[in-house]
Amino acid sequence: MRMHATILLAALAFAAVSQAAVDPPNPYPGLRPASYEAMLEILRKADEQPFVTVSEEAKTTQGRSVLLVRMNRGGDKAVWRIFFIGAQHGDEHAGKDALLKLITDICAKPERLPEDVDLYMVPMANPDGSAADTRRNANGVDLNRDHVELSQPETQALHRIARRVMPHVSVDCHEFGRDSSDYGARGWDEWPLIMMDTANHPLFDPALYEAGLRWVNDAKGAMAEAGFNYCRYIVGDAPPDGEVRHSTVDIDDARNGLGAYGGLSFIIESGQKRGQADVQQDLGLRVAAYEKLLWRFIEDRTHRDADMAAVAAARQRPPGPVVPTNYFWARTTPGVEMIKVIESATSAVIEVPAYNYMDTRVIKKSVPAASAYLVEVAAAAPIGDLLGRHGIAFEVTTTPLVVEVERVRLVRVEDKEDPVYERYANRVIVERLKPAQQAFAAGSLRVDLGALPPVERLRATLLLEPCQMYGLYQYPVFRATVGPDGLLPVARAR
Ligand SMILES: [Zn+2]
Repeated sequence: MRMHATILLAALAFAAVSQAAVDPPNPYPGLRPASYEAMLEILRKADEQPFVTVSEEAKTTQGRSVLLVRMNRGGDKAVWRIFFIGAQHGDEHAGKDALLKLITDICAKPERLPEDVDLYMVPMANPDGSAADTRRNANGVDLNRDHVELSQPETQALHRIARRVMPHVSVDCHEFGRDSSDYGARGWDEWPLIMMDTANHPLFDPALYEAGLRWVNDAKGAMAEAGFNYCRYIVGDAPPDGEVRHSTVDIDDARNGLGAYGGLSFIIESGQKRGQADVQQDLGLRVAAYEKLLWRFIEDRTHRDADMAAVAAARQRPPGPVVPTNYFWARTTPGVEMIKVIESATSAVIEVPAYNYMDTRVIKKSVPAASAYLVEVAAAAPIGDLLGRHGIAFEVTTTPLVVEVERVRLVRVEDKEDPVYERYANRVIVERLKPAQQAFAAGSLRVDLGALPPVERLRATLLLEPCQMYGLYQYPVFRATVGPDGLLPVARAR
């Protein structure tokens, strides 16, 4: 009897919603991914327009060009600066093809681009990966995990552009597997055709997080009207018991890595069905969904003045007195969230309880903000190079210094997933030591946070703070700078 009740409850929890017609028809049925050569031809033609500039921002390992397209019809009147990035992951074509279509469409009808918009685009951020149809670049690096190290010409170029343009909005375009294995094992596809989320590092200005979430939520009406299944970006394992969350709260991807410049920053993910014989047969549908979201950033002026003011304020705001160092997604709301999935066999949309839907960013631990970071001579070369790639000013000391600093000792780096949180590989576990006087030899680095503009101060803190849970020491090149006693080479001065 008791068993029966349990089964009944489970059945109720899985109550199907009678609804079919999952996706609208593909409006561009013949569309195939544009090759590198096809992109060159599109950009060559676009460059003939007086309001279009195409510039080479980097050469890849295999000698292809990372190209930036700027479209500006208003000159100085173009005050709303947008930066769109396509295909950092070379096998995720829809964003790239949507950007190329946008470029072609604006060239065919220039008046579609408002005069107050200054539009920058890198449609193909990973040309070697796009040519080979691989996620990684030709060096085998996942570019969207390289925004801390900036070890690759492609990611270095994206950051140089961001520092030059200082966009109000950055959008990084990706694709996900709608029929991933854990959903597939339950007989489901993921419901969304396309998802979007905003930058979310807890050290970023809260007003930007709110403004970003407003863009994410405000798109829902238009997307529903157009028939596109759209929601805020979720990642994780399949419900009901898999953990569902709004991606990472870390800065090694473009959304947060470029968000660290104090603008609004977004990730968009369209859904590929990777199990179908021809993954690109519905490319046109994904491109159409992309177009809808991308054009909103160009055309929608509803909150533009407020957004521009929020970005300006964030870029002038001195960082607060504390630095969150340990943070994650958690569930803080009682009750159960329902999420939509598609029953693969019937195409019916059903709602499933997601017991582990993590809805809130939680800060577990913070440290008082440092006034400066000091880097020992032994690590001055790699960390100086890192700061140089990020455009952060620092001083190389010419005389020995004695400074009261807090040292931090590395306890371990979790190479595997944390068994408690079932995630967080590469988490850096450290121990803070008591402040003490320490001598730094000539040739040490000193990053005086008080002397930096607010945005650089924030970015220096994100990179150097030795207590960061995802600090530098998750990367082998920086782990090699840890002393035999476990002392990290970067010390905090209060
Ligand atoms: Zn991706």
